Amino acid sequence: MVWSDPTFLGWTPADWRTWFSTRGRPGFRGDQVFTWIHRFGVTDPFAMTNLSKDLREELARELVWSGPLSVERVQRSVDGSIKFGFGTADGHLIESVLIPGSGRDRRKFTVCVSSQIGCALGCTFCATATMGFLRDLSASEIVAQIHEILKFMAAEPDAWDLGERPRTQWLTNIVYMGMGEPLLNLPAVLQSVAVLSDPAGLDFSSRRITISTAGWVPGLRELAGHPDFSGQLAISLHACDDGIRTRLMPVNRRFPLADLREALLEFPLPARRRITMEYILLADVNDSPAHARALVRFCSGLRVKINLIPYHAYGPASQFSASPPARKAAFTELLQASGLTVIERSSAGADIDAACGQLASSEKSRAPQ
Ligand code: SF4
Repeated sequence: MVWSDPTFLGWTPADWRTWFSTRGRPGFRGDQVFTWIHRFGVTDPFAMTNLSKDLREELARELVWSGPLSVERVQRSVDGSIKFGFGTADGHLIESVLIPGSGRDRRKFTVCVSSQIGCALGCTFCATATMGFLRDLSASEIVAQIHEILKFMAAEPDAWDLGERPRTQWLTNIVYMGMGEPLLNLPAVLQSVAVLSDPAGLDFSSRRITISTAGWVPGLRELAGHPDFSGQLAISLHACDDGIRTRLMPVNRRFPLADLREALLEFPLPARRRITMEYILLADVNDSPAHARALVRFCSGLRVKINLIPYHAYGPASQFSASPPARKAAFTELLQASGLTVIERSSAGADIDAACGQLASSEKSRAPQ
């Protein structure tokens, strides 16, 4: 029962109503508390002025108001991205990134959240994989990443050009692309999406929430059958040849490209929605014209757009390097000539190891032994 988690940020209004009813209190109080916390960012029960004094005291006594995460470090990139290191109550460190848009989009902010501590899938280009898998994050710990970042923005309103915009409009996109494989922690991920998108709270449009997977096919099928999920789906694809993809992403041995494609063909996409295919261009690994043609074949019959992402090495011993500009241009041209929509991403925060595939705690665990 999620409402037994006393750090409560992962509770939906229904969970809050249950919590109040089990104490003989009217359920609607739960909606009021949810709105204080999520819409207004109030995490002091004594500031909830529409509750009685004894109710505020009960909330203060029974629940943990300090939050499930503490801000351990903040690193600012020259491109404006900020990487946060958050400590968990059991002594681990997770990372999230706040990424501002550029030019006309400078007031648009994306947050990349983590869903697990470490990751079991072992992609060879990814820093998180070097940590191994430590544990799943709770829904409260996922939502807390957003809350802590909003708190950080609230402390510097001019720096973020927040103006008179309400807190519910400060962030534009939330992407589950940080540490971990979200589909291996699906219940907590979906619970966090339900909380973040609830109209009584942050009211974050599910169209602006993206869940990214390395291709965990059972999770894709489970997500496909989930009636409440209407967010965006992204696939970390990176190669359309089974041999190469297995080398980059060992999960491909278990769920090869044919299985992934079948699951994607069956995925119930809302009208006009497309699946995003993430493709990191690695020099002489997956960036030739033949690789581009394989990508075109894989995408035929699927409603997709392609995100081409530059590679950023995460350590001196990295076995990969980024594709040179000419090769990247030829790759892009070939995809576009076949009618695919291609977006060339500039990976934000590379100088602070906050770019795609670079998130990893430098301390494996700070838990007491
Ligand atoms: S890329 Fe994603 S799925 Fe692969 S190891 Fe890294 S965090 Fe895990």
